[in-house]
Amino acid sequence: MKVFICASEIVPFSKTGGLADVAGALPLVLEKHGIEVRLATPRYKIVTGHPAIDGAGRLQVTGLSSDIDVAKIGKNVQVYLIKNDKYFDRDGLYGDKAGDYADNLERFSFYCRRSLDLLKEINFKPDILHCHDWQTALIPVYLKTLYHKDNFYKDIKTLLTIHNLGFQGVFNKDEFPKLGLDWQLFNIDGLEFYHKINILKGGVIFSDLLNTVSPTYAGEIQTQESGCGLEGVLHKRKKGLSGILNGLDYELWDPEKDTYIYKPYSAGAFRDKYVNKKMLQEECRLSVQEDIPLFGMVSRLSEQKGLDLIGQSMEGLLGHCKLQIIVLGVGDAKYHELLQELAQKYPGNVSAQIKFDERLAHKIYAGADIFLMPSRFEPCGLGQMIALRYGTLPLVFKTGGLSDTVSQVNGFVFKEYTKEAFVRTVESAIAVYRSKRKWMELVKKAFTYNFSWEKSAGEYIRLYKKLA
Ligand code: ADP
Repeated sequence: MKVFICASEIVPFSKTGGLADVAGALPLVLEKHGIEVRLATPRYKIVTGHPAIDGAGRLQVTGLSSDIDVAKIGKNVQVYLIKNDKYFDRDGLYGDKAGDYADNLERFSFYCRRSLDLLKEINFKPDILHCHDWQTALIPVYLKTLYHKDNFYKDIKTLLTIHNLGFQGVFNKDEFPKLGLDWQLFNIDGLEFYHKINILKGGVIFSDLLNTVSPTYAGEIQTQESGCGLEGVLHKRKKGLSGILNGLDYELWDPEKDTYIYKPYSAGAFRDKYVNKKMLQEECRLSVQEDIPLFGMVSRLSEQKGLDLIGQSMEGLLGHCKLQIIVLGVGDAKYHELLQELAQKYPGNVSAQIKFDERLAHKIYAGADIFLMPSRFEPCGLGQMIALRYGTLPLVFKTGGLSDTVSQVNGFVFKEYTKEAFVRTVESAIAVYRSKRKWMELVKKAFTYNFSWEKSAGEYIRLYKKLA
């Protein structure tokens, strides 16, 4: 079977969040199962550290044509990097401090069409074209419209995976001609959404099958509360919509082999986890104490991720509980300020690391005692799974993929999205931390969970087969 994956970010080439982790890890497992898989992604200015990249930060690639580079991941998975300096030679993937790039519709419609044309150029006719999120959601639309009459494309089936319904690619109606589609598609049963263009909606309607990244989220997005306006269209397609929990790359995230952390440790002998804690406290300029509960957070700093709860409750908690917290993230300016103010006010206890830093992220997963993920909604979430892999107990709100992965036997869960419930749960986590025996039992239990890709990849393969 042949599968072509299109994703707007892929580890190790680019990353802003979990989509990149998934798009980088799933193909490697598919390859092990004998599937011929290739990928296409924009070639941005930023490329992150990986064997595919040499010491000088250059990607080890060969040029296929003037605008396509090819790199390899896994044994022999080819990744086509689509160049276009006008669109992709920028510091951000989707935007900068001022917000989303104004030409995102053009940038990603170009990427979708270039990916489709590329298939013919390399004579790779996939059984399945697997798209991810709004940035690739035009592919199913184009396949069923502009490319439909071409024999090469007519049997290709599409699967669209929704990683976060909070991002839909909504644009002004006057940009519609740039898509190259017939105006007839701008209607309620097509790409129109309250007089605007909604790219993800197009993908939901035109793809052959749909899935999202956890079973709970697949149900939630069909409700008014969590459907972000698309609940009706999603509900209509419910027969073709499933939820597959994301997996984690257990090679990349492995406390025994992790070269980013201060000292590797294993589930069987995790005393060295506390060496990591001490060195993390030092690096982040917190007072170095083993017996204080250290909370870690690695996240986009947005309302979705529960930063409003942190804002409402952290001062109070710091006033009456002995705790430390390190937050690593970038996002909304108001949260940067909030965290920086807290760090200034509580220097030995709060560290605000306002940046994207893969290395420090690994160190936090390894060195923290408790991983904070109080997301208001969370399609799947990888942070809590990574934390468990490192014996760090997650504290989460019961929503989406967090409900599918964390419970009171491997972490701490609050069920009402209120400051009071959050504070109570933080306090009870600290109380458990104080009773060492119970704490150690939970940490040992955390190490026993397995969220590797094996199971989830099997579910994707079943979906591909069903489609093909
Ligand atoms: P989302 O995709 O919604 O941002 P996930 O939990 O699915 O959330 O995935 C987030 C991924 O991005 C994790 O691998 C996390 O470690 C990483 N990440 C988020 N913010 C940062 C940051 N500032 N520095 C390094 N890694 C980060």
